[in-house]
Amino acid sequence: MIEYNDLNLENIGCKLIEAKKKFGQNFLKDTSVVSKIIQSMPQNNRKLIEIGPGLGDLTQALLKVKPVTAYEVDEDLCVYLRKKYTTKIAEGQLTLVQTDVLKQFETGTLSDEPYDLVANLPYYIATTIILEALEDQNCKSMIVMVQKEVAEKFAALPKTKEFTSLAILAQSIGTATILFDVSPESFEPQPKVVSSILKIDKQTEFVNGKFSGIFEDNEQLQKFKKYLRCSFQSPRKTWLKNISSEFDRTCVEELIHEQNLPLTIRPHELGVLSHHLLFKTLRLNDA
Ligand code: SAM
Repeated sequence: MIEYNDLNLENIGCKLIEAKKKFGQNFLKDTSVVSKIIQSMPQNNRKLIEIGPGLGDLTQALLKVKPVTAYEVDEDLCVYLRKKYTTKIAEGQLTLVQTDVLKQFETGTLSDEPYDLVANLPYYIATTIILEALEDQNCKSMIVMVQKEVAEKFAALPKTKEFTSLAILAQSIGTATILFDVSPESFEPQPKVVSSILKIDKQTEFVNGKFSGIFEDNEQLQKFKKYLRCSFQSPRKTWLKNISSEFDRTCVEELIHEQNLPLTIRPHELGVLSHHLLFKTLRLNDA
């Protein structure tokens, strides 16, 4: 059970709140971590979205910066937050939506305007949410708390074992940086793992149905994802062996020679730009 010094739950008509494992509830109690997140936020007039406000500690700090639209799946927490933030909701400072945020992403109804995302994400769907936000053209940046290993996958550098399709996708759409780590003691209840704050600034703009970045349109992005799946299907095998399951092996060998690369090169040894070049050339040859 979580007990609060700042709020008498019974006085506002709420039962004591028990953290639910099934919703990945680890509430951030360390105010210094909250302050560091706030200091890292981009300064602009864009809409601000929080996923999983929980007991609203991070929300409270975000509300001091600008209005917040928050998506929370847990009905008990929504009841609590509506009571805690009655005034902020009435003033239009806080918009609280009770929903599974994945459904909002799937239906493209999360936001009809550009937004920045700030969230202490539930571990069990953190990677999925980041991938959805990467592809959501309205999402312009994200500062998200995730399991340290997940953050490392998105921010990984070439030639490291963490450098897989997640890093290449994220770093094709934006810049991915780990800001700092957060120890389990900062949460209630404490998770079994260390967390990190991951920042992704998107650089690919989507204007009038066209990307201004490396992907001309969404179809190209989907094809690049397919290329990455194929390139990394067996990360220990050579890129040649992996990609030859999809493209003609002789053409791939020629391409590798043209690029002065060894035939034995593995997918994680190729940098982001090399993967873009190989993808584009293979697609041209394939057309
Ligand atoms: N933001 C709070 C904090 O920092 O203390 C809570 C973070 S807790 C790690 C994750 C939050 O996400 C919980 O409030 C949980 O109920 C919520 N959540 C879990 N799955 C969700 C989903 N599918 N859609 C929206 N919220 C979800």
